[in-house]
Amino acid sequence: MDYNYLADLLFPNTTEAPADIEAKYPPRNLPEGAKVTRFAPSPTGFVHFGGLFPSTVGERLAHQSQGIFYLRIEDTDAKREVEGAAEGLITTLAHYGINFDEGAVLGGDRGDYGPYRQSQRASIYHVYAKQLVREGKAYPCFCTDEEIQTLSQTDKKAEIKNKDWHEDAEAARLQMLKQREFTIEEVEAEIKAGHKFVLRILADGDPNKKVPFTDLIKGKLEIPENDEDFVLLKSDGIPTYHFAHAVDDHLMGTTHVIRGEEWLPSLAKHLQLFRYLNFKLPKYLHIAQIMRLDENGSKKKLSKRDMGANMNDYKEMGYAPECVNEYVMTLLNSNYEEWHAQNPEKPYTEFPFSIKKMSTSGCLFDFKKFNDISKNVISRMTAEQVYKYSLEWAKEFDAEFASVLENDPEYTKAILAIGRGGKKPRKDLATWRDVKDYAGFFYDKYFKIEQPIDERFDSSDIVNCLNAFLESYDCCDTMDVWFEKIKTISAENGFCADTKEYKNNPDAYKGSVADVSMFLRVAVTGKLNAPDMYSVMQILGKDKVSERITSMIDSLK
Ligand code: GLU
Repeated sequence: MDYNYLADLLFPNTTEAPADIEAKYPPRNLPEGAKVTRFAPSPTGFVHFGGLFPSTVGERLAHQSQGIFYLRIEDTDAKREVEGAAEGLITTLAHYGINFDEGAVLGGDRGDYGPYRQSQRASIYHVYAKQLVREGKAYPCFCTDEEIQTLSQTDKKAEIKNKDWHEDAEAARLQMLKQREFTIEEVEAEIKAGHKFVLRILADGDPNKKVPFTDLIKGKLEIPENDEDFVLLKSDGIPTYHFAHAVDDHLMGTTHVIRGEEWLPSLAKHLQLFRYLNFKLPKYLHIAQIMRLDENGSKKKLSKRDMGANMNDYKEMGYAPECVNEYVMTLLNSNYEEWHAQNPEKPYTEFPFSIKKMSTSGCLFDFKKFNDISKNVISRMTAEQVYKYSLEWAKEFDAEFASVLENDPEYTKAILAIGRGGKKPRKDLATWRDVKDYAGFFYDKYFKIEQPIDERFDSSDIVNCLNAFLESYDCCDTMDVWFEKIKTISAENGFCADTKEYKNNPDAYKGSVADVSMFLRVAVTGKLNAPDMYSVMQILGKDKVSERITSMIDSLK
C-alpha cells in the first residue's frame, strides 16, 4: 500500500506537515519545574461541583509553580453541545476565582497557543491525521452510519466476539475488519462515489499485555494494551476527544493532564496515540469522583441532578465563592483544614497544595460541613463586606430585601457588625440569603413574633417583668448596668437572678434571669435566639424597643 498516496487521497486539502504546525507552538519560556495545566470542559451544560476539582487543582499546580493555566473548550461533539454553555462556563469559573492565564474568553481567545476551542482547530488535527495515515497507523473506514452505530453500541471487541451477539453487530464487525484490508483502488472507488469515512487508528496492542503506568494520584497502575481501532476523526472530519486532546495537549505544552477518573479506562488508547504521534506523554492526574450520602447512608456519585451539583445554584442559594473555594480545598487536600486553623487570615492560595495529599478514592460532599465552613469564612469578614455582598445578592434575587438593606446603610452595617471582629466571632450566616432570617427583625417590614414565649410562664409574670423593664430602661446605660437592672427585675418578680443558683434549686423560683431575658428577646426580636440583646436594643433605639415591648404587653393582657 502506498500510504503517501492514500494520505493525499484522504486529505487532499491538507498541505501542511506537523513540523509547520509545531513551529507555531514553540516551547514556552518558563522557569524550571513550572507546570502547564488546563481545564478542558465540554460545553454540554453547567459547571458541575465536580468540575471545580480539576480546575482548582490545575490552577493551583500551575500558579504555585509559576506555570500557565489555560482554558480549552472541547466542543467537538456538536450534538451534545448546549448553546451558551461555553460562555456560562467562562462566567461561572471567573465567579469562583478560577483565573486562567490563557484560553477561551468571552467572545474570543487570549494567548498564543490557540485557538482554544477545538471546533476551530479542525485543520490542525487533519495535519496529524494525515501524518498517521502516511505512516500506516490509521486507515479510513467507510462503514455506514448505521453500521458504525451498531459497532459503537458494542463498545468493546470482546462483546463483538460474543457468540450470542446480534447478527447486525457481527456483520458490522466483519465490515469493519475488511476496512483494515482495503486496497488503494477500493478506497479510491469509495471516495469517487462520494462516500464518507471515519479515520480509525490501526491498533497494535495486545490486551493480554500490560503497560506499567504511574498516575500522580492513583499511583502505579497496569494498563492493558489497546487493540481497539477507535475513531480519530468522525465522518465530518471532526476529531474525537481521544485524538483532539492528544494533539492539543502536545501543541499547547500541557505538562500535567488533570481530569476525572472516568477517563482512566481510555488511558490505553491515549498511551497508544501519544506513542504513534511521537508526542511526549504528559503526566496524568485522574481525580476521584465526588460522592454523596443517600437517604440510607450509602455512598452515591454526586450526579447532575443532585442538590449542590450545579454551581450556578450556589449563587442563588447565596453562597460566597470564597466559601466554595475553601470547601473545595478541604476536600482536595487532607491537611488543608489544619493549615487553615493555623493561618486563619491567609487566603487559600498561600496554602502549599500537594498532589500527594489528594484522596485516591471519592471525596464525600457534605452540605453540613460546607455550611460550617461557610459560616467560618463569613464570620471573618467585616460588616462592610457582609453588607456589600449580601446587598449584591439581594439585588439579584430579592429586590425587596435589597431596598430594605439599602434604605439606611449605616443602620444595616451596625446590625451586621454585632459580634464581629473579636476572637470568637458569631457564626450565624452561611449564605447571604441567611441575612434576612438573621437580621430581618430589625426592620418593621419583617418583624413578627416567630417563636412565642413558652406557655408554662404566667402571662401576668411576663407582663410585670416587661413593664418593670420599660420603667427602668435607659439606653445610655452600659451593658453591665443594663444587665444588673434585668437581674433586679428578675429577683423582684420571683425569678432567680443567678442561673447557677437556679439550677440547684429550680422549684424555689418561677424561672431565672435567663427566662426574663428570653421574654425581652421574644418581645423585641420575635425569636428565641437572637444576637446579643444589649447591642440589638442599642441599634433599634429606645422608641422601637419600647414600642415592641408595649405591643407584647398588650397582646398578653
Ligand atoms: N472534555 C473532557 C471532559 O469534559 C475533558 C477531559 C480532560 O480534561 O482531558 O470530560
